[in-house]
Amino acid sequence: MADLETAEERVGYLIELGDTLAPFDDAAKTEVNRVLGCQSMVWLTSSNFHEQLVFSATSDAPMVKGLVAILVGAFSYKSPQQIIDFPILELFDDLQLKTFVSPLRSNGLFSMVQKVISIAQATQAVEHPSGEIQTNDFVRPVPTKSIAACRSDFPILSRVLPNGKPLIYLDNAATSQRPASVMKAMDEAYEQHFSNVHRSGHALAAETTTAMEESRQSIADFINAASKDEIVFTSGTTASINLVARAWGDAFLQAGDEILLTEMEHHSNIVPWQQLASRTGAVIRWVPITDDFHLDLVAFENALGPRTKIVAITAVSNVLGTINPIRKITDLAHHVGAVVLVDAAQAIPHGDVNVQAMDADFLVFSGHKMLGPTGIGVLYGNRKLLELMPAFLGGGNMIQSVTTEGFTQAGIPHRFEAGTAAIVESIGLKPAVDYLLALGPEAILQQERLLCDRAMHGISAMPGVRTFGPGLNDKTGVLTFVVDGVDSQQVAHLLDNQGIAIRVGHHCAMPLHHRLGLGASCRASFYFYNTIEEVDHFISAMHSIVRSKA
Ligand code: PMP
Repeated sequence: MADLETAEERVGYLIELGDTLAPFDDAAKTEVNRVLGCQSMVWLTSSNFHEQLVFSATSDAPMVKGLVAILVGAFSYKSPQQIIDFPILELFDDLQLKTFVSPLRSNGLFSMVQKVISIAQATQAVEHPSGEIQTNDFVRPVPTKSIAACRSDFPILSRVLPNGKPLIYLDNAATSQRPASVMKAMDEAYEQHFSNVHRSGHALAAETTTAMEESRQSIADFINAASKDEIVFTSGTTASINLVARAWGDAFLQAGDEILLTEMEHHSNIVPWQQLASRTGAVIRWVPITDDFHLDLVAFENALGPRTKIVAITAVSNVLGTINPIRKITDLAHHVGAVVLVDAAQAIPHGDVNVQAMDADFLVFSGHKMLGPTGIGVLYGNRKLLELMPAFLGGGNMIQSVTTEGFTQAGIPHRFEAGTAAIVESIGLKPAVDYLLALGPEAILQQERLLCDRAMHGISAMPGVRTFGPGLNDKTGVLTFVVDGVDSQQVAHLLDNQGIAIRVGHHCAMPLHHRLGLGASCRASFYFYNTIEEVDHFISAMHSIVRSKA
């Protein structure tokens, strides 16, 4: 088509191409088969032929029929994996589609591509049920550091508070503390190398750019992303979710589509979807939790349907500590062609996140909860999805070229990193990852559970103390509780007087608190650097509080 000189000739050719499409069965022109997000009506079905997929599609608009014909030709008679890997964007570039297909039609075209990929993913999920998909040979490095030797790496943990009490920091789910290695790396970056990145050609710029890109690579390796291009730096979990809701949501959702959320989500994984729903007319459906603080999987499965476009779910609840069965969730969601965003803000601190094993489409987290700096976070996105997404913020760094007429976007991940990045913060993520890897995820979670179990047994027998969360094997080191008859704010205040820092309030999870019949609660969250002695201080301070109310 690139040989054709004018846009008119190309449109004419597309219309002719559309006429070559095999006839489409009128009975298959159903809502389920309709490709949403297209300006005109487009229907698409698939069938299996010797483990390959064959597509049949049509449109009511002659030119779009031509585009449909290109897609059907490109994707048919391929295995699901070949479809997922097919370089469709290169084909679009070769055909110079951008030169005569309007932006609206382009969005529709991407919606068609996305439907095809969803079908391929769903077919693959059925052919390889949970756990069977071979990802790559992902092996974490052998841990080199023992938990017992880590406390002195965190200078703040030896702090004495103004009232003379030594600090007992049990607010780790809100934010972790940082080891000296993270602060040293950041100081060094400012003192020795600092420059802007991806722009100038001088020595400092090269050093800083290299350090930032090495950090991106270490994050990719840490979560087993296929490539560092799939790692977008953002300012944190909240920013990452908003980015997806804007860039992916605005492009691919429309009125009547469904967004599936769970009752245990943090507000950061609720409000951006509510905003998206009010922009597009999409509908939010809620999956409840069970009385034993797990996700209700039966309700989840029942809530999925052909209109489900995205499932946005936390890997670990910040209130209950519940670890959700993400792989099961992605399998079920992919089966109906939905995309899954995993909020890993509370999962990443334990170091055991593997995007390929989870089969996550998007996964988001913050640096500050995993020993890293504030102001930096990550959006992992499957390459195919990121490439289909338009930029959200415009500005420097995210463009390929700009003219007075318009701009073309940079490739991924820079397309989503407009403006000067949180450079030194991104560099500080690498030593945080290195530290977590040196300890290893098993040891981290084991120590948290040991501490949490001791605290849980210590306080749950006290009169009027109620705790919330599943059994220890299904959770992280988060202990949420209330003391009947004592206001949660007061409990936190009394603990603070003893130097014990916990979180109080709704923990940005008001729907969950509503479900639990609570206005507020107290949350003690343990991390690997906490000690048995600290837990015992906490238990004895709780004894005093409970005794004083009697
Ligand atoms: N999701 C969950 C589960 C969280 O625990 C948090 C932080 N409390 C967030 C999202 C938001 O993270 P941030 O404030 O770093 O953007």
